[in-house]
Amino acid sequence: MSAGSSKLAGWGRLLRRAWPLMLTQRRRATWGLVLQLASIGAGLALPWPVKVIVDSILTDKAPRPPWLPADSAVALVWVCAAMLGLHVVRGALGTWSTNELVAAGLAMMQELRCRLYEHLQRLSVVFHERRPVGDSLYRVTGDTFAIQTLFNGGLVPLVTATLTLASIVVILWRFDVVLTLLAMAVAPLLVVTIRFYNRRIAETSIEYHTQESQVSAITQESLAAIRTVQAFAREEQEQQRFGSGVARSAAANLRMTRAQTASGFAVGIITAAGTVAMWWVGGLRVLEGRLSVGEVIVFTSYVGMLYGPMQTLSGLANSVQAALTRFQRVVEILDVCPAIQDRPGARPLTSCRGEIAFERVTFGYDPARPVLRDVSFVARPGQTVALIGPSGAGKSTLLSLLLRFYDPQEGRVMVDGQDIREFQYRSLRRQIAVVPQEPVLFSATVAENIAYGRPEASREEICEAARLAGADEFIAKLPQGYDTPVGERGSLLSGGQRQRLALARAFLKRAPILILDEPTTALDAETEAAVLASLERLREGRTVLVVAHRLSTVQSADELLVLQEGRIVERGRHEELLARGGVYARLFALQFGAALAEKAREA
Ligand code: ATP
Repeated sequence: MSAGSSKLAGWGRLLRRAWPLMLTQRRRATWGLVLQLASIGAGLALPWPVKVIVDSILTDKAPRPPWLPADSAVALVWVCAAMLGLHVVRGALGTWSTNELVAAGLAMMQELRCRLYEHLQRLSVVFHERRPVGDSLYRVTGDTFAIQTLFNGGLVPLVTATLTLASIVVILWRFDVVLTLLAMAVAPLLVVTIRFYNRRIAETSIEYHTQESQVSAITQESLAAIRTVQAFAREEQEQQRFGSGVARSAAANLRMTRAQTASGFAVGIITAAGTVAMWWVGGLRVLEGRLSVGEVIVFTSYVGMLYGPMQTLSGLANSVQAALTRFQRVVEILDVCPAIQDRPGARPLTSCRGEIAFERVTFGYDPARPVLRDVSFVARPGQTVALIGPSGAGKSTLLSLLLRFYDPQEGRVMVDGQDIREFQYRSLRRQIAVVPQEPVLFSATVAENIAYGRPEASREEICEAARLAGADEFIAKLPQGYDTPVGERGSLLSGGQRQRLALARAFLKRAPILILDEPTTALDAETEAAVLASLERLREGRTVLVVAHRLSTVQSADELLVLQEGRIVERGRHEELLARGGVYARLFALQFGAALAEKAREA
């Protein structure tokens, strides 16, 4: 297949994807089109009153229609009133139809946006890790408008311009065949010019949207990391990065505008030449007595109307192409299959006992470079298993596998004796509460944040969870208590307060499995002690996987797993591992001093 035909096939495929979306608004769209066509019909009738005025009232070139009064002054009033009436009808129908058609186009965009957002939410973390958030953001907020452009700037003009053009050609043809052919002679020149410029407009438009997408990515990235930017006093560099992005976008916009204005100028000259030629040839015909003045006016009016739809149709391919390019950016994401999906026949995990088992699990983000190797362990219901090891050993990855953010390349992760791939993954996640290293809060109230995992929870349950998490005291001191907004990502609270809300969230979820990913790392010693007390309560009756750098937090665990380069190199209870004098004992000595380690070993 040649490059051109494969491109056409690509367009066809995209249009077939756009069509069902347009059909979602078929009623409104059809009604809008009917109104639009009626408005065009009223517009097509407009030159006729002028002909009546010139040929039948001001001169006697044509017989006066029988419905007009004999008095010329009164007849003039009648025809002027009819002309005004036609303008009003055309304007009113035009306004109504535009409103309907734009509403239909916007509803299509809304539908596409919601579908895209829903899909983005379903795509696994692997997808989101590899793509800048700003880019996804622009596809949702900017590129989804492509469907509206395809409808309001593609389909609607295609239908209306074709019908208008056909009607005008029929009218002109019946008037004067030679003049009609002459009027249409500019069409090829018009098409070539418009196509030339539109290609340039489409190229610059793509460039402009790409630059805008980058501005969005830069803004998102640096505002999301504003604390780091300010802490490193990098505002000026960020400003420069932003400034040059904005400058590139503005320059691309200017190139697009220049191409548009140059195109407008060239097209204006060509159509003006066509109209002037009509006046010249038509004038000659009047001088020869073959046409009346009124007929020339009507003719040139229609010729003037002819060029509008011609321009529209000549430019349509390129503007549709530009919209399709943006639509493709949306389709690209919609076509990504979530890496994690439910198997056919997957069951919901409802009443979970909380037994966890890893069976010879091997996993790597890049399958060629495993991060976890041959990992096996069991956590019985109610037990706490702690994961210890140097940074990068694979601890957080192991937790991600239990949550099924990724599937292992070898081995199985089991819950209640079943491979977790047998369960519907969302039902699995409902059985797991997570307290992460850095709690993520949403810009909502304290109560809404606590109830994030169980929105139906009553206020009493929320307060009880906050009490168990040791968060009730500070919440009571907030200006609006549980109804205090916490700011974006909880920015109005301290690290310890955020962590306690995360704990309250976990209490409220009442899940049988609890994942704690270094939950006290970000806290000072005093806050840590308070949070640890809450954690003890939270662990009761739950199976817990806990990652900890601070070994003080895991000494009471039923089993400690020491990970190194993705392998479990030691396992056992705290005392056993100390007695063995291996990796764990060394880590313990590093943190608590050799003497204390010795004492602990003797004890
Ligand atoms: P830390 O104690 O510092 O949190 P960790 O033991 O939890 O470390 P992991 O976060 O599991 O370690 O990382 C294990 C390895 O996998 C590291 O080499 C890391 O670079 C790599 N890694 C982690 N997350 C990803 C990812 N999303 N994509 C690719 N590689 C990753």
